[in-house]
Amino acid sequence: MHSHHSHSGDYVAHGVDPLDAMVAQARKMNFVTYCLTEHMPRIDPNYIYPEEREIGGGDDDQVLETLSSNFEKFLKHAQKIKNDSIEGETEIIIGTEIEGCDVSHINYAKKLLEEKKDVIKFCVGSVHHIYGIPIDFDQENWNTALKKAGNNLKQLIIDYFELQYKQLTSLQPLVVGHFDLFKLYLPKDLKINPLTGQVSDDESSVLASSISLINQWDELRDIVIRNLKYIRQYGGLIEINTSALRKKLPEPYPGEDLCELVKEYCDGRFVLSDDAHATSQVGVCYAEALNFIINVIKLDRIYYLTEYKNLSIKVEQMDINKFKNHKFWKALQ
Ligand SMILES: [Zn+2]
Ligand SMILES: [Zn+2]
Repeated sequence: MHSHHSHSGDYVAHGVDPLDAMVAQARKMNFVTYCLTEHMPRIDPNYIYPEEREIGGGDDDQVLETLSSNFEKFLKHAQKIKNDSIEGETEIIIGTEIEGCDVSHINYAKKLLEEKKDVIKFCVGSVHHIYGIPIDFDQENWNTALKKAGNNLKQLIIDYFELQYKQLTSLQPLVVGHFDLFKLYLPKDLKINPLTGQVSDDESSVLASSISLINQWDELRDIVIRNLKYIRQYGGLIEINTSALRKKLPEPYPGEDLCELVKEYCDGRFVLSDDAHATSQVGVCYAEALNFIINVIKLDRIYYLTEYKNLSIKVEQMDINKFKNHKFWKALQ
């Protein structure tokens, strides 16, 4: 079993358990591969989260400094865990989750990945902000982002995927993180004009949560397909991220509609991730994910990363029968 995306309480404000405990839990659960991918530091005070500001005592420079030094500590710690690994144990791979907040962060990520390439072996390319507003933090921020999009849901999602495309073309992240993160705070009762995506209470309006947003508008769908084709071209992978299920969404990231497009335009290049922030979240909702993989999107293989002794990352495939018969699942029941 694999996870290509995780955090810990040692190095991120909203994490819970220490990094050592996260790794011990993954090993206990018979993970084959467990990737440690702490967030890269943010470099602009506009992107500091309230919980981080508290820790910094209100001094933004201090907060940015702490984010940066924490990341350095994370890399040292993760490398030590990796060096101390015994053959046959869960393979630990060190990566980082990129903050595609804006162009300056994408450029900074590029520099950081180059500087640290001996330690950081790959990155998870994520977009957590639209118009500089965090869309996975709380409902209020999500609503503000929608307002910035002129109260047009189609526009909000297009702008999300345009920023993702900027990140893809600059960094070619090996793993593309939570592909449809914009759905996390999509209000269940939000009604839109089905033709324009404009928020509306008209008779002809529909519940946004009741339609496939990706397939609703050709313009949006074409942008998604462009991104997927680009990912296929450079050999990237799309994570099936179970944190959406943990947060009580009906589907993981990405949902079925997107997964069908990934199958068609990106060769079904899926990896699995738990995006855990606590030991209780290691392998969280993996049984549900297995059901989704086998019965809903019906994959015939799953991809995963391995790092060969020459220290280069390799993308491997596992036949779906081998995947579903792995000893990991038995222990999960
Ligand atoms: Zn993320
Ligand atoms: Zn994450």
